Amino acid sequence: MKFNTKTIHGGQHPDKAYGAVMPPIYQTSTYAQSTPGGHKGYEYSRSHNPTRSALENALASIENGVYGLAFGSGLAAIDAVLKLLKPGDQVISTADLYGGTYRLFTKIFEGFGIKFCFVPMDNMDAIENYINDRTKLLWVETPTNPMMNIIDIKGVASIATKHNLLLAVDNTFATPYLQRPLDLGAQIVMHSVTKYIGGHSDLVMGALIVKDKQLADQLYFIQNASGAICGPQDSFLALRGIKTLHVRMQRHCENGKKVAHFLKSHPKVDDVYWPGFVDHPNHLIAKNQMDDYGGMISFSTKEDSLEGAIKVVEKFKIFTLAESLGGVESLAGHPASMTHASIPKKEREKIGVKDSLIRLSVGIEDIEDLLEDLQQALA
Ligand SMILES: *Cc1c(COP(=O)(O)O)cnc(C)c1O
Repeated sequence: MKFNTKTIHGGQHPDKAYGAVMPPIYQTSTYAQSTPGGHKGYEYSRSHNPTRSALENALASIENGVYGLAFGSGLAAIDAVLKLLKPGDQVISTADLYGGTYRLFTKIFEGFGIKFCFVPMDNMDAIENYINDRTKLLWVETPTNPMMNIIDIKGVASIATKHNLLLAVDNTFATPYLQRPLDLGAQIVMHSVTKYIGGHSDLVMGALIVKDKQLADQLYFIQNASGAICGPQDSFLALRGIKTLHVRMQRHCENGKKVAHFLKSHPKVDDVYWPGFVDHPNHLIAKNQMDDYGGMISFSTKEDSLEGAIKVVEKFKIFTLAESLGGVESLAGHPASMTHASIPKKEREKIGVKDSLIRLSVGIEDIEDLLEDLQQALA
């Protein structure tokens, strides 16, 4: 089955009871048993729920995985991966990381004795330099948020294989429409389903997808034992979102390309970060690894100040100033004061997140309206 067909049919079967084409929302915590242990595969909804199972199967299918696990948020999914580790273990992570992931690593798991190194992963030697016998996990986010750096997943996977490490990839920005990390050698794919997969800014959810049965069993044990699952209503919405992922992504990419070029040629705009530009420092990796370049773009204005950036984001009429990304509507964010405020200013600036940086999640509206909105806000 090819990708577009998978988004609609992958892992899906008509409901056993009445043949419903969409899985019913099984809004139940428990399931009747005929005799102790005599159930139909479902006994308690933290452990399993048929609506969540349908979603988990769809997630596994679109990422070319075998097992999917859905969680109450993206961070809950990352939390489950980190619980594979023990005190003293070391994680090597992408340097410019989603702020909430950085906070979870440094403010929660460092307190439990896990060590983190944040490394610019477009340099493979830098990764190898940090590996020691306590290293267990490589954590990759690509494209990175908000600087749109691209990390060579295949390259990192070969390092992981050489040193027998686990490789997890946060695939939130790209989605499996653009890149499939399991095919490139990663063992775990993670998603904030909240973003492109859900696609309609109406839910908060996370997911993990793996191929290996033993790893799936370990993560399922953590999902059930720690309990950060998502509910059946949200599972239904996410499944509905997946069915249009390919058509939405196609338009996000088309509009993203036009917005990126518009910004690059605008006299008031300074730097534009988008992996589709041939002069983007990791363009060749992006070209090899991704099927298109997505709808996430960051830029800074020539008036290089906090006030200047805030003036622009306040003037938008169609782009909504909001946290999050990946919905059908265009959003604008100011990383330094919003998504990345949990990273200290000095650390933030080291990775390029200046006070003047603005991040756009380009939606699927008419491109003329989006360009007009950018034009008037920058004027
Ligand atoms: C939003 C986001 C997360 C966290 O997901 P939540 O669903 O908000 O918990 C993790 N990684 C990336 C890249 C994100 O954009």
